[in-house]
Parts: sequence; structure tokens; C-alpha cells
Amino acid sequence: MPIPEIGMFVSQKLPYHSCRRCSRCCTGKLIPLYEKDLERLDGFKSFYLPTTSLEREVTGAAYKMKMVESKCIFLDGTTCKVYDRRPDTCRRHPFIVTERRILISASCPGVDWSRENNELAYYKSLSSGISGNLDRFIETRSKFSGRSTRL
Ligand code: SF4
Ligand code: SF4
Repeated sequence: MPIPEIGMFVSQKLPYHSCRRCSRCCTGKLIPLYEKDLERLDGFKSFYLPTTSLEREVTGAAYKMKMVESKCIFLDGTTCKVYDRRPDTCRRHPFIVTERRILISASCPGVDWSRENNELAYYKSLSSGISGNLDRFIETRSKFSGRSTRL
């Protein structure tokens, strides 16, 4: 089932993923930042902005990654300059696994639907910051129709 507002599909199974380093997930996306992410990136300056009220409602995050010309401030070509310290949102992409659902990015070319991925618990642990808010958003998304939020 597609959820166009957030550019994701709901799936029954977690497909296999092999990153093609296309950097689509670093371009024109909302990258919510949670406390753990800010701690991990401690020492870097001016890389985040406050979220809007809608973004906060969807993600539960008070901050988001700064984009410059629609690209993440840490993106250099197709390489992440802070790869080892990247936020959980980037680590779990293209999956968000909540208590109730598995969501798959509609735009990631590295998703391989022909093979199953057994790392469900890992992705679930990375989704903890967003899962409750996202579940609530999906359940009431009809009230947001016409508004667009890309995760
Ligand atoms: S969009 Fe998918 S394939 Fe492309 S860099 Fe991101 S995770 Fe990798
Ligand atoms: S922190 Fe790195 S992986 Fe995350 S969006 Fe920025 S460049 Fe991409």
C-alpha cells in the first residue's frame, strides 16, 4: 500500500537491500534529528534547523538536518562526510520498522523485493525515535491530505 505523503510503501515483509550509493536519500529529504543523533554529531556546528510543526508531529523530532540547495550539508558528491556518525534516519534508510508496520522508501533503487531481509530487529531498534509518531500520522493522515512531507 503506497503512502504518497511520505514517499513510502507499507509492506508485509522486509525486502533485502543493497545500497547503490545514489545519494537519493541525502537529497531533498527530511532527515529528523533525535537526541542520540545530536550527541553523535557533537562538535559539528550549524548543521541543523528546527522542524516545522507538521514535521514535528510526524517524526517527534525537534530538529532536522540542514539542506543546502536540497542536499544534506554533509553530502560531498555521493559520499557522506560523517558516515560513521550519521543519524539513525540515514542508518535505517530505506526502511522504517514500527511496532505495527514495515515501511519501505518508494524512491530507493537498492531495494530488492526478490529476497527477504532478516534484520527486522535491527531496523526496529533504529526506528524507535519515529515509530509512535509515524503510526499516529498514518492513522490520521486523511486530515493532512494536500500537504506533503518527504521522509
Ligand atoms: S537511496 Fe537507497 S540506494 Fe540510494 S544511497 Fe540511499 S539507501 Fe543507498
Ligand atoms: S548525514 Fe550523511 S547519510 Fe545522512 S543525509 Fe547527510 S550525507 Fe546522507
